[in-house]
Amino acid sequence: MDFSVARRRMVAQQIAARGITDQRVLDAMSTIPRHLFVEAGLQSHAYSDASLPIGEKQTISQPYMVAVMTAALELKGDERILEIGTGSGYQTAVLSRLVKRVYSVERIAVLAGRARKVLDQLQMSNINIKISDGTIGWQDQAPFAGILVAAGSPDVPSSYLEQLEVGGKLVLPVGDKDQQILTRMIRQEDGTFKREQLLGCRFVPLIGEQGWLSESIL
Ligand code: SAH
Repeated sequence: MDFSVARRRMVAQQIAARGITDQRVLDAMSTIPRHLFVEAGLQSHAYSDASLPIGEKQTISQPYMVAVMTAALELKGDERILEIGTGSGYQTAVLSRLVKRVYSVERIAVLAGRARKVLDQLQMSNINIKISDGTIGWQDQAPFAGILVAAGSPDVPSSYLEQLEVGGKLVLPVGDKDQQILTRMIRQEDGTFKREQLLGCRFVPLIGEQGWLSESIL
């Protein structure tokens, strides 16, 4: 299978055709080898219009969702970004191409380890990955120009709002465990936040101190 053809088709048909116009996002997703972020047996599905299992009951996000979330951060290139939920590392790789530095937090060590390996192979050196509960953010490195959360949260954790710089954008799924609304919060100069609802979505749960308490369906 020629992955470069599949990749170009993915960007044209699933992303550009659905209204994503940020050329830097389209270019990054046209070059990053998404098939390397899934297990060998799933590589032929890597460019399909879907999320896929990555083990540990987690998923690599659907390409369109990665594009929507990334575009919503409106990145220029000089930002420091916090990502919560490294998972496969694919979203991390897309961000890595678009900003100065990516700080990514994953609670499951084996996933963080696998992601690190692929990102190292691709020589993406502007990424720091930490294994911990990402619902409390990354205090030492705050504030961030953008925070992208790839797991669904019952509310907006206050730590993320506190760790955003003025003009900074937080993109996260908010809702119950079955469905959420992708939400964007933008920090205003007066310290308040502009809140926008982008689209309906379905993510795995954000588990931790300021998210869901456990994986069980409550
Ligand atoms: N962007 C990733 C999405 C992975 S799924 C990708 O496309 O591959 C969401 C990830 O969030 C899972 O790996 C899950 O383990 C992780 N996660 C859930 N709660 C978390 C928390 N509190 N801190 C850090 N990671 C968390």
